Amino acid sequence: MGRMVIVGAGIIGTMHAVAARRAGWEVVHLDRDLEPRSASVRNFGLVWVSGRAEGDELRVALRARSLWEEIAAEAPSVCFRPDGSITVAQLPEEVAVLEQVMARPDAAERGFRLLDPDEVRIVNPALRGEMLAGLHCRTDAVVEPRAVLPALRAWLAAEAAEADTGGTRSYTFHGGRTVHEIGPGSVVDGAGERHRGDVVVVCPGAERQGPIAELLDDAPVRPVQLQMLQTAPLDERLTTSVADGDSLRYYPAFAVPALAALPPQAPVAAEHHMQLLISQRADGQLTVGDTHTYEEPFDFATSGAPEAHLRARAQSILGRALPPIVRRWTGVYSQCLDQSICHRRQVELGVWIVTGPGGRGMTLSPAIAEETLAQIGAPA
Ligand SMILES: Cc1cc2nc3c(=O)[nH]c(=O)nc-3n(C[C@H](O)[C@H](O)[C@H](O)COP(=O)(O)OP(=O)(O)OC[C@H]3O[C@@H](n4cnc5c(N)ncnc54)[C@H](O)[C@@H]3O)c2cc1C
Repeated sequence: MGRMVIVGAGIIGTMHAVAARRAGWEVVHLDRDLEPRSASVRNFGLVWVSGRAEGDELRVALRARSLWEEIAAEAPSVCFRPDGSITVAQLPEEVAVLEQVMARPDAAERGFRLLDPDEVRIVNPALRGEMLAGLHCRTDAVVEPRAVLPALRAWLAAEAAEADTGGTRSYTFHGGRTVHEIGPGSVVDGAGERHRGDVVVVCPGAERQGPIAELLDDAPVRPVQLQMLQTAPLDERLTTSVADGDSLRYYPAFAVPALAALPPQAPVAAEHHMQLLISQRADGQLTVGDTHTYEEPFDFATSGAPEAHLRARAQSILGRALPPIVRRWTGVYSQCLDQSICHRRQVELGVWIVTGPGGRGMTLSPAIAEETLAQIGAPA
């Protein structure tokens, strides 16, 4: 059996482990963290098809969504819920954008329907605030970001234990191991242990230090920092995830001519490059965001003005007060500067780096991994 060493146990590295096991590789998987702390546990958990660019990106997103569904059938603790989303239009100019989006040839493939406020409330009765219309996307879904990585690792370990014979361990995870040497055929971790493999796949997220710097060289990727919050449980179910009209400015699917006629964003939203997204956790808490910061060095603190704006926007859509905020955090992802789905390169013979999916990594990860495995080929 061919052996693959995977460095990085965020969602990209972990989905590569899933895809590699499915393709028949023995996998050794390493991460510097004992427990997940990276972008992959700081996100909304949105499997977000609605905003993807037409063409290849939409194709990959739809493939990824279907893989998420398959994987969730095997590892139900990832908590995949095909809830869909509503993007709420509160301005006539935003409605005009949605009308043009509905006229696009791929609207049906995305599962889009343009709803009036009464229809929105039939789909999601918790949206009792101000709105002129809502774009319902039936292909959007959600997973539990803090449950996904442990659930997938436990599934991989259990599946390997069943398959293993004669002392082979076909999936081994080593947490708390920073990899500081990467080369063809092996990597060395901070404990001094060398892990050998036929192929090495490095999925470092936004990390750019040490050996990762050499692998990235002058790769067209940049780090982006976001600010997020979580409330105490809402006492009712959000039957869909929710986005506001500012999200139309961020996602390529909404790049229609009417976009140019949107009025300027609120100053705080423009300054912090904001949109409102809300996803509800399985326990009822609301994950709310976000901001985007592109200039380094990033502040280590969260800031109050964006938080107040997000709260006001959410309240205007829900038509009620948000529960108290119980957690605040920032997260950093790596984003490709070109139109690529991700930055995937074989940097040396048998050494691959995969990063840069930007704000789409949770969504696209199973399909990104599947594509890497197809490029690497079957184990010897
Ligand atoms: C706030 C926020 C909200 C988001 N919301 C969404 C969303 O709702 N939907 C969506 O699709 N995407 C979302 N994203 C984007 C998504 O979270 C990322 O694209 C994705 O998590 C990136 O996964 P990754 O595995 O590449 O990186 P990471 O999650 O950063 O994982 C990289 C891992 O590599 C390890 N590592 C790095 N260097 C080394 C080394 N030398 N040795 C050992 N281990 C190493 C790190 O410890 C880390 O565990 C969001 C991102 C953020 C920050």
